[in-house]
Amino acid sequence: MATPEEILDTERDRQEAEFETALRPRSLAEFIGQPKVVENLGVFIAAARKRGEPLDHILFSGMPGLGKTTLANLIARELGSGMHATSGPALERAGDLVSLLTNLGRGDVLFIDEIHRMPRVVEEYLYSAMEDWHIDIVLDQGPAARSVRVSLQQFTLIGATTREGLLSAPFRARFGVLERLDPYPVEELRKIVVRSARLLGTGVDDAAVELVASRARGTPRIANRILRRVRDVAQVKGDGKVTRAICETGLRMLGIDEHGLTELDRRILRCLKDQGGGPIGLKTVAVAVGEEEDTIEDSYEPHLIREGFIQKTPRGRKLTDKGGAVVA
Ligand code: ADP
Repeated sequence: MATPEEILDTERDRQEAEFETALRPRSLAEFIGQPKVVENLGVFIAAARKRGEPLDHILFSGMPGLGKTTLANLIARELGSGMHATSGPALERAGDLVSLLTNLGRGDVLFIDEIHRMPRVVEEYLYSAMEDWHIDIVLDQGPAARSVRVSLQQFTLIGATTREGLLSAPFRARFGVLERLDPYPVEELRKIVVRSARLLGTGVDDAAVELVASRARGTPRIANRILRRVRDVAQVKGDGKVTRAICETGLRMLGIDEHGLTELDRRILRCLKDQGGGPIGLKTVAVAVGEEEDTIEDSYEPHLIREGFIQKTPRGRKLTDKGGAVVA
């Protein structure tokens, strides 16, 4: 039985998911930023359509919230293909993958989020599917065991990962296209905030746009979430328009400081400071701040490192002078 907190959380997740879907760009032309990636994809899609062949398998890597899922959806849409989405952790057994693969139509897109978390046995099934469009299924066990070859329609696998380094070399080698998404510069985030505000029917002044964009740590998802929260504040405490003052109140309520740091970021910095600045291992940091190691590594550290607040050394994480000043 779920606790009320869990139920409330699920509800929040559902609303968050609906909100994200509403703000997803509907065409590649509408996608803001990542010009190199978008240009490459445009060429590959056009070439595949011209040849009447499925698009090469694509691997997107980059921090959470940079647009990997969005791009996968846009690719399927531009190709006019079916889109089947799943995630690495959901594919627990080879059978889960087999039923997905056998349901794909020619040219369909199979999107696997968090592909680095797919079990190795499932990954190995994908090899022949990606290369030769078949899978060999072993039926029965012991002396009666036999293998049956199942042919598949040609499809495009799109994988998304926050940890490209965790993918095995043979798996990576099977993707024809590897695209890395980088954090967005503030001017692109500004455009994303303006677009989202328009879609939400919310008035925002320029100073507020600037504030949201500059606190979003290079991530469209965070920019959109901040906008959603400050819009609530504007409705409750103002006349509905998001002004700079409303935005400052909202950011304070969210615990986001002038560096775009959240309470958990500051806890990470404080933990390092308490340990004499480090170096200390990720495990110790995770226990001290009460968050999973993976989450810290994927969602918090990249920003802290990029902004020069911490350093990753072979012996662990170290606080920099700049990081120390934040929690002085
Ligand atoms: P990821 O799969 O990398 O975690 P998503 O594709 O789910 O990220 O993007 C998260 C949210 O951010 C989406 O709801 C989408 O609306 C928004 N978003 C991401 N990239 C862009 C972009 N380039 N332009 C506009 N919105 C974007």
